[in-house]
Amino acid sequence: KEIVVSGIRSTGFLHLGNYFGAIRNYVRMQDEFNCYFFIADWHSLTTHPDPKDLAGNVLRMVAENVAAGLDPEKVALFAQSDVPEIAELYMLLNTLAYKGELEKVPTFKEKVRLNPDNVNAGLLTYPVLMASDILVHRATKVPVGKDQEQHLEMARNFAHRFNTRYGADFFPGPQAFNYGDNLVRIPSLDGAGKMSKSENQMATLYLADDDDLIRKKVMKAKSDSAAGGEMPESVANLFQLMSLVGHAATVAKFREDFNAGTIRYGDMKKQLAEDMVAFIGPIREKTLELQKDKVYLNKIMRAGAEKARASASATLVEVRKLIGINYY
Ligand code: ATP
Repeated sequence: KEIVVSGIRSTGFLHLGNYFGAIRNYVRMQDEFNCYFFIADWHSLTTHPDPKDLAGNVLRMVAENVAAGLDPEKVALFAQSDVPEIAELYMLLNTLAYKGELEKVPTFKEKVRLNPDNVNAGLLTYPVLMASDILVHRATKVPVGKDQEQHLEMARNFAHRFNTRYGADFFPGPQAFNYGDNLVRIPSLDGAGKMSKSENQMATLYLADDDDLIRKKVMKAKSDSAAGGEMPESVANLFQLMSLVGHAATVAKFREDFNAGTIRYGDMKKQLAEDMVAFIGPIREKTLELQKDKVYLNKIMRAGAEKARASASATLVEVRKLIGINYY
């Protein structure tokens, strides 16, 4: 079976972007592949979360993943920090990553622009840690959203560089994956950027939002007065969301209205809000139920970590040998 790895940073509540960019694929892949899915708690440290919040965030995200359809019997679901081999590989790969290429990464440049007071080395080397997460299991497929495309390219570069330097065909080049080819990008409701855990919170739909908050956010979504002709981006965004959570028939109806020039965006948003409530509600309720059973969540994490460590430590044995750390 091909090996699959993907992670989500423990920086807040999961949202529709995480779901459609990542988790929806996880759920489909769990039957077909050998899957390692993790909560990226180390990755979240670059923005210095309050220690009081960290454990709660990680546990809730385990619950959210299961509520969204992940079966912990089929996949390894674990916390990144429970697999120290990832840190060892990260340290080794850091010697093959160049400062210049890391500084050029658009997500790094954006973080520097938004937060010039916290340009730490962890932020700079984020793509190296991400490459380690993936390569430590010698994975080939990585289900992620469009925003991660470039990081995947870097992971392939590091893998290739390692293979070349140590004269071995050891790490496969991991590829970003989505069922249906194009990687997904869910735009934020205000049309500025993408939905995100830590930014744009009133314009992001979270899997934990209650029904009224969902309605409020959707009704405030950016639309337009245009009808017919070329579709403005804000309207295309509403159609994208409706196609993902709604029924084909309602999408078709509003599309016809748009083409005929009779569309009423208030009506479209009301429909979208109800589709969204119906989609998010069951995941939210299931998450709340799972969160009550910390023992069960811990059991999932321990079993996941054990499986991930077995795979990661086997890789590290080979890596150390290839590098020449092989003394006894
Ligand atoms: P943060 O706000 O903390 O940067 P994030 O919401 O961008 O977090 P990540 O933890 O960086 O989420 O990413 C987890 C997964 O979700 C990745 O596979 C990423 O590609 C995907 N993802 C995040 N936002 C979106 C989005 N708006 N559309 C599609 N996929 C997304």
